[in-house]
Amino acid sequence: MRLFTRPGRRLGTVVGTLLVTLATSFVAITSTAAPAHADGCYTWSGTLQQGSTGNAVTQLQIRVAGWAASGSVFAIDGSYGPATTTAVRNFQSAYGLSADGVAGAATFNKIYALQDDDCTPIHFDWSEVDDVCFGGWPAPISGTIAQVKANLLQAMWRAEAIRHRLGDVPLRVTSAYRSKSCNDRVGGATNSNHLYGRAMDVVPGSSASTMCGIGRASRQSFPQVLGPGYPDHSDHIHLGIQSSIYHSASQCF
Ligand SMILES: [Zn+2]
Repeated sequence: MRLFTRPGRRLGTVVGTLLVTLATSFVAITSTAAPAHADGCYTWSGTLQQGSTGNAVTQLQIRVAGWAASGSVFAIDGSYGPATTTAVRNFQSAYGLSADGVAGAATFNKIYALQDDDCTPIHFDWSEVDDVCFGGWPAPISGTIAQVKANLLQAMWRAEAIRHRLGDVPLRVTSAYRSKSCNDRVGGATNSNHLYGRAMDVVPGSSASTMCGIGRASRQSFPQVLGPGYPDHSDHIHLGIQSSIYHSASQCF
């Protein structure tokens, strides 16, 4: 949960407002051009739609994965197929944009408004998802920290979708990445998704949401959702990214 705004973001907002004013004054001469919004993380250079491929699609998929069709496992594969069209359409609808499933300037500008210069969504930060026992980034059980962080970035964007779906309520992250010694210390499962940065545990960040409410709202955004009723999950919702659907919280749904 981010409770403050960085000076850089605030400056970006001021510049953005000036640009809007200018564009309005000059009859929006750039209305058909690709978004020119300077973003410290990633800037798309043109419209993407079904059939598009490449890293621009991958970057889009990371940010709309939390809006994929219910009951599906959304692939972040750089290929803009029907599943991506659906996710983009759901994202557009959720944020009040024209929902055509095509990612153009309006969609990209909404994403820019939702992300910080370090690519994290505005309501989540790296400091919330690093090793929960020791802080920082101790080496993972396998692979690299870069892979762990790439997974965590996906998880944060999916969580951003959940908090918006719930009406922009704050979510508090209680555990995300765990090195092996940390996972052992907290009694995590031997092959827990937390070991790879593929999971985060969340709880309500205010009285505006409930554990079960978060659990229900999470099923569209994460293949793995564990909550009250599942052993050892009475006090948090576990959200995991994996290749099969497993949702279990018998006290909630
Ligand atoms: Zn967990």
